[in-house]
Amino acid sequence: MRYPSILWKSYFPRVITLALSSSLPLLRMNYFSFDAEENGRKSFELPGATPHYNPDRPGQVQHIFLDLALDIPKQSFAGTCTITLQPIQSGIDRLTLDAVDLNIESVRVGEVAQPFDCDGQQLQIQLLEPTGEDPLQLAIAYSVNNPQRGLYFVGPDEHYPDKPTQVWTQGEDEDSRFWFPCFDYPGQLATSEIRVKVPKDLMAISNGELVSAKKAGKNYKIYHWHQKQVHPTYLMTLAVGDFAELKDKWNKIPVNYYVEKGREDDGRRSMGKTPQMMAFLSQKYGYSYPYPKYAQVCVDDFIFGGMENTSSTLLTDRCLLDERAALDNARTESLVVHELAHQWFGDLVVIKHWSHAWIKEGAASYSEVQWTEQEYGKDDGAYYLLNEARNYLSEDRSRYRRPIVTNIYREAIELYDRHLYEKGACVYHMIRGILGDELFDKAIHTFVSDNAHKTVETIDLIRAIEKATGRNLAFLFDRYVFRGGHPDFKVSYAWDGDSNLAKVTVKQTQAKADKPASENDLFDLKIPIAFGYLKGKKGKKKQEVSQKIFHLRLDQPEQSFYFPLEKKPNFFSFDVGNYTLKTVQLEYPTDELKAQLQSDPDPISRIDAAIALAKKGGLDATNALAGSLTNDPFWGMRVEAAKQLAKLKLNQAADALIAGLKDKDARVRRAAVEGLSHFKTADSYKALKKIATKGDPSYYTEAAAIRVLGGMVSGRLKEKQSEVLKLYQKVLKERAGWNEVLRSGAIAGLSRMKTTPTAADIIAEYTQLGVPQALRLAAIRALGAVSTGQTPDKVESILEQLEALSGETFFLTQVAVASALGQMQTAGAIAILSALAGQTPDGRVRRIADEAVQKVQKNLGSDKAVKQLREELEQLKQENQDLKSRLTKLEAKT
Ligand SMILES: [Zn+2]
Repeated sequence: MRYPSILWKSYFPRVITLALSSSLPLLRMNYFSFDAEENGRKSFELPGATPHYNPDRPGQVQHIFLDLALDIPKQSFAGTCTITLQPIQSGIDRLTLDAVDLNIESVRVGEVAQPFDCDGQQLQIQLLEPTGEDPLQLAIAYSVNNPQRGLYFVGPDEHYPDKPTQVWTQGEDEDSRFWFPCFDYPGQLATSEIRVKVPKDLMAISNGELVSAKKAGKNYKIYHWHQKQVHPTYLMTLAVGDFAELKDKWNKIPVNYYVEKGREDDGRRSMGKTPQMMAFLSQKYGYSYPYPKYAQVCVDDFIFGGMENTSSTLLTDRCLLDERAALDNARTESLVVHELAHQWFGDLVVIKHWSHAWIKEGAASYSEVQWTEQEYGKDDGAYYLLNEARNYLSEDRSRYRRPIVTNIYREAIELYDRHLYEKGACVYHMIRGILGDELFDKAIHTFVSDNAHKTVETIDLIRAIEKATGRNLAFLFDRYVFRGGHPDFKVSYAWDGDSNLAKVTVKQTQAKADKPASENDLFDLKIPIAFGYLKGKKGKKKQEVSQKIFHLRLDQPEQSFYFPLEKKPNFFSFDVGNYTLKTVQLEYPTDELKAQLQSDPDPISRIDAAIALAKKGGLDATNALAGSLTNDPFWGMRVEAAKQLAKLKLNQAADALIAGLKDKDARVRRAAVEGLSHFKTADSYKALKKIATKGDPSYYTEAAAIRVLGGMVSGRLKEKQSEVLKLYQKVLKERAGWNEVLRSGAIAGLSRMKTTPTAADIIAEYTQLGVPQALRLAAIRALGAVSTGQTPDKVESILEQLEALSGETFFLTQVAVASALGQMQTAGAIAILSALAGQTPDGRVRRIADEAVQKVQKNLGSDKAVKQLREELEQLKQENQDLKSRLTKLEAKT
């Protein structure tokens, strides 16, 4: 399963940290009794969290057969669910199945009706004859009206008359029980069959092979699908709609793409690499794609990015790229490979319990890295992984820290966070780093083939690695998987020319030396380091690099190492290859950092050097970073150089960024746009306004230019406000289109014009029903941000709007409302959030609302005085920047 990126953002709106906050006792208001903070982190476990285990098994489910008829206009369906069960022991006379809000009509074993009881959550069956040796067949007749979860009806209404008619399902994690009675946990694997009656002009797609598609009377058609390999209930699926079917093939296996009619080109453009990916993953996992077909169905209003139902993945139709969006194709390609990777990790090898879901989500996230590396090269792969690590680090820093494997939660869906996905991917990468490419592949082959069509826990991965390679990596799993956290390294390097000695000191700053081993957070790792030498003439662009590599065992809070070397190295690299999940702070002399930025063959090490240089500041660092932004061959490094230049408050940095706006890579241009917006000068405003007005080939770059203007027109650029407002109204009128990226950029820009009442009014207009959903959700979220500088009356009216919106039941609307309220600075938001948390049937929304309440509490602490201080600080910074710029110019002249 993968969250849409838009959802990630609303889950985790950027936390604005006040530099002054730690001195304010007000910020430590304990609204919740569980508000136990550790270094500003909340606890992952919310009130009501308990340990979760799979239930006892009365037997092994062998087969599930759903025979259903859909009544789409009435948003209901009815039919029979037949479960074949092989009892574990004889004499069982009672069975408990999961069945939420299902109208159970009868339960039969053979021809005999059985007594049953149903409480809206579970179905209890009293068997008239206790189980014997033979399998028994339970036939459960049932119907469902207006299902709240599990199976979703999508269709046109008065506000959205053009919406297509579709039906789709979403089982993960525990929602299959909302559309059929079942033993709903991943430990039970069975074959399955779905036969479904639909209106004759719609198509039904499901798991496995198509047995038949026959007419039924004048108006209906019956589709019959059969999945012959065992899989868990959460992967059973059904997708119904008037789709265009695009046919492709890999190794004689049909590969089909289903999209709304009229979007055939977008479909091929977005999913067309699937056969190459199947070849790649079959080889990487050492196991040929295991199912008789692979279908990908793009559906409307999908609540996730994608879902890896066995051999029938569902994807959000928002992943479909038009011709121009193909320039920014990376997210779609990652989504496609992620869901495909699950066909092995998740579907073929099934997790036994949600607490081990990282095995599949980490592997699927890591497949994005592996595919990027294969398709775009090693540097791109490394940079992709760095950003995965950063996403995890940010959650760890600002939200909570938890072990990747834990069974303590309120609902399993809470586990689907950045520890599960991104940290999981980093763990796979570390395993690869320790074993090397060849043995890593061998270990994965062993794990997949030994556990195909079975369930696994984390220990099975450790055992497969040991079986295949002889290596016992239990220590790594202990530190990174079964416990929270990662090492925070501070590395200093110095050269002693008198004795030709390099000194390296490494501190693990997270370590608590005074605590016992079980609590001291110390890591014991072998980290490769290297001394880099440049050959060839200085000044020549292509200087050859040679590296002398050593391995350090780091197992103390602070360790120093001395290396006698023949001559002074040009630069020093810590963690060569960057396989270790960590944070690192480099304390090297400026010259070594500059040389590393220019010459380290590893782009991640160059990025670390860029960050360290920017911390030093000054004209020297600015020039080095400007050089990197212009000359580095890798686009990711140029992006990072732009980001670091944005932190250097010198006008020379702004000049470099203006030059960066012309980069050939759209991603670099976008970073330059965002970087430049930190310089509120007439020149940078002019350059950005030009892009916002005239456009950029890339949607995202253009949207960024539109977005940042709103935040620039305060202080000295205040008189440009009306100009920007006009531009925003024009964009909102004229630039509708692909996923509403451009218009959402205008909405986000408006949300930064916090003291402008008109901005709040325009945003409010776009929260109306009838506005395209992507734009509407952006507007709902923006209401929160824009509210913070408005008058009390305006804030009151925004609260009223959000309260009304919180009554809508659509999952994504509720998430947007909670996200908006979480950004507000008024106690009124708490009441609405608490009501939302109390009423929503959705554990995800409940968690987001509960966390948003905590955020508002924190926001309330930042009272007026602090705000004023912050504004004054901004003013001082601006003046300081001007002075420093003038000073450096003077220095240059003298
Ligand atoms: Zn996934």
